Amino acid sequence: LDPNKERFTPQEVDIEKALRPLSFDDFAGQDHVLDNLKIFVQAANQRDEALDHALFHGPPGLGKTTLANILANELGVGIKITSGPVLDKPGDLAGLLTNLEERDVLFIDEIHRLSPIVEEYLYSAMEDYKIDIMIESGPNARTVQINLNPFTLVGATTRSGLLTAPMRARFGIQSRLQYYNKELLATIIERSASILRVEIDIEAAIEIAGRSRGTPRIANALLRRVRDFAQIKGNGRIDVEITKYALKALNVDENGLDEMDNKILLTIIDKFKGGPVGLTTLATAVSENGETIEEVYEPFLIQEGFIMRTPRGREVTEKAYKHLGRIKNNIQGG
Ligand code: ADP
Repeated sequence: LDPNKERFTPQEVDIEKALRPLSFDDFAGQDHVLDNLKIFVQAANQRDEALDHALFHGPPGLGKTTLANILANELGVGIKITSGPVLDKPGDLAGLLTNLEERDVLFIDEIHRLSPIVEEYLYSAMEDYKIDIMIESGPNARTVQINLNPFTLVGATTRSGLLTAPMRARFGIQSRLQYYNKELLATIIERSASILRVEIDIEAAIEIAGRSRGTPRIANALLRRVRDFAQIKGNGRIDVEITKYALKALNVDENGLDEMDNKILLTIIDKFKGGPVGLTTLATAVSENGETIEEVYEPFLIQEGFIMRTPRGREVTEKAYKHLGRIKNNIQGG
């Protein structure tokens, strides 16, 4: 499950939708991914063909769902949205597939969580736009093959390592999304503020950006909370003072790390003398799945210089000790 998504109330989900970019032009960052997608979309549009199936991978909140929607908009087609855990029977998938119009997008979030039967069922749909369905029952039961409209499957996964090789091979387009830098996040925050009709100073946007864990979803969530403080404790305008006040009240880590990030660092320091420690051992110690640590948490911690990956395992850096107010004991036991 996506930990960031779960925190939202229904109203907040609506706001999140309102903040979602609808076209390539609204989408900030990921230039390399976008430049390629623009070409593939333009080419598919010119040929009046369905876009090749596309797979987006990367940590939660970086824009995979947003990009799926943008692709549908830029292709000028409809989109149907579902997710791996929801599709538990081939019949559910057949219903969706037979309702797709020509060139439509079918978006499957958490595609690594499809059951093996559903996954296998998807193969012929992706490859030949054909599926077998069972008609009638009892002695007359038989399967017939149905032709589908050409469509584009867009899959999203936070855990590319868990995708089976045959599944992965069926995506002609594969893109990895990266964490956003502060400047990009500040741009996204300014855009969101203007949609929310709240004034924000650039310094305030940068302050929020620096604490958003490189993630637009977190940036938008913090912006909404800071807006509340500005409205109640300030004069409505988001300046850097009210922002710092709000972020302090919200207990937001100054480096934007979340609870699990800090737990990982503390565990390596306190239980494993700063490391190196193997992934499996670490996973057990923090009660989290190893792949999740590797694909969701670790990339950000490495990028920000809190953790190093060495041949013998994960090691925390000086920066991690400093961040957590721990003193490094240089006399390593053993
Ligand atoms: P994912 O599917 O990767 O978990 P989403 O596509 O749901 O992430 O993105 C989360 C939110 O972050 C979206 O509602 C959108 O408002 C915002 N967002 C993501 N990427 C961008 C971007 N590049 N520019 C502006 N907003 C973005």
